[in-house]
Amino acid sequence: MPQNGCCVYCKCTFQRSPYRPQQAVCSRPECQRRRRADYHRRKLEVDPEYRQVVRDSQKQWWDEHPHYQKQHRQKNPELIESNRQRQRGRDQRRRVQRLVRNNLALNLKPSISEIWLLGPRVRDLDRNNLASAQVLILPAVGHLPADVCPS
Ligand SMILES: [Zn+2]
Repeated sequence: MPQNGCCVYCKCTFQRSPYRPQQAVCSRPECQRRRRADYHRRKLEVDPEYRQVVRDSQKQWWDEHPHYQKQHRQKNPELIESNRQRQRGRDQRRRVQRLVRNNLALNLKPSISEIWLLGPRVRDLDRNNLASAQVLILPAVGHLPADVCPS
């Protein structure tokens, strides 16, 4: 006789398959998806051979789809724009760091968002062209909100 079980994910009661008395997960697609994902994660941790197989098949996929990333970007132009904005943020940060090394900028208040006092344009400052100041707030790289760099 099949027994009732309690799903480890959604906690619902389900009827175990008579062929799988150890079954711990119900048949809902979401729970099955989580079961497979957990299995995959666990396997990657403990099984070096499995890790290698996954790595090989990922490499093979990329070898067979060399233009995937390019096509993916073409189909999603907003990705290009957000990458560009992130890059702009990194560039600006690099310029600021160079200014700090040259003692042209002063870190006013260290925090997660750094606040720097700078001349009107960082590029001008690079050429030692000091003028009236503005405050630039640079979020930590990698957490740049999309609206930081107006285009
Ligand atoms: Zn479930």
